[in-house]
Amino acid sequence: MTGIAKALAAKHGFALSGVALVPESGAAPRAAELTSWIAKGLHGPLEYMPETQDRRSNIRARFEWAKSVLCLAAFYDGQERGRVGRDLSAHVARYARGRDYHRVFEKRLKLLSRELIDSGICTRAHYYTDTGPVFERAWAEAAGLGWTGKNACLIHPRKGSYMLLAEMILDCSPAPDAPEPFHCGTCTRCLDACPTQALTVPGVLDASKCLVTYNIELNGNTPRSMWNEQGKWAAGCDICQEVCPFNAPRRVAEADPELLAPLPWQSMTLAECIGMDRAEFDRRFVSSTLRRTGINGLRLGAITAAGNMRSGECVDALRGCLMDEDSAIRERAEWALAKIFEVAH
Ligand code: SF4
Ligand code: SF4
Repeated sequence: MTGIAKALAAKHGFALSGVALVPESGAAPRAAELTSWIAKGLHGPLEYMPETQDRRSNIRARFEWAKSVLCLAAFYDGQERGRVGRDLSAHVARYARGRDYHRVFEKRLKLLSRELIDSGICTRAHYYTDTGPVFERAWAEAAGLGWTGKNACLIHPRKGSYMLLAEMILDCSPAPDAPEPFHCGTCTRCLDACPTQALTVPGVLDASKCLVTYNIELNGNTPRSMWNEQGKWAAGCDICQEVCPFNAPRRVAEADPELLAPLPWQSMTLAECIGMDRAEFDRRFVSSTLRRTGINGLRLGAITAAGNMRSGECVDALRGCLMDEDSAIRERAEWALAKIFEVAH
């Protein structure tokens, strides 16, 4: 049964797949750690985490029939792209550079769920890809797709961590896969490299300190105290993955062709992003993961990156922002220009 499910997963473009069984209690793997993470407030401003904690910690809270989880992953483009200070692509985290994976995966998952039922493997299959309250990384780890590194990412021993996850909740019990052992050893590169010290405890992310919380999830509303630390990143941050030896360029997995397909925004410069209007945003970001950050979220990120990179090429675009109708854009552009011209701030 597991072999057929995995063959179907591969047919639908998932590079990795594995099965984890749901215990009688329905508890997700690492549920106790999730509870403690939220109790300590490490979710920061991500209010949806406590709000969905019950369903995230227990898969049977929503799917009382769940017996197993078929965990799936595909790899995104792990290469460096663009020229820092000039091209927007050099300032965007790798996972967000490609086509909107929610849409790409949902099409595949719909077909896969139908085939799993048609082939008699299960009678019910419900899927998510970052689209519902499932503790996806913990299930994927239990299903043997990789181990949770000290950077709190799932890492495959030979293909690295530049992957996106999805899962299919099933009402059958195929043979489960064995979890991958922990391979970080004594390495602490990610903990040392994080610019905001968001990884003070190995494997535990303090989301209130992570750049991604603000420049993607909260639409560019990064607290002023973190603007300098945001460095070159307009959207997302890859530092704790870039420094990981399991993501060395020779190891990085081949990207999924659909996620790698070119998008209209990828030829944009940082300056063009700073000055873009609604029509440009709609045209360039229509199929992009970055669309969810919103036009001004992206502009705020690009302004911050331009300031930190002291990008002379962005000065005109930044000056144009000083008259913007959005006060957050005006304030951030003022800061960036001051930074470029080294005025005290
Ligand atoms: S994504 Fe960046 S800010 Fe967040 S934990 Fe990793 S290195 Fe730190
Ligand atoms: S950088 Fe080192 S400690 Fe961090 S996840 Fe990679 S191997 Fe583990």
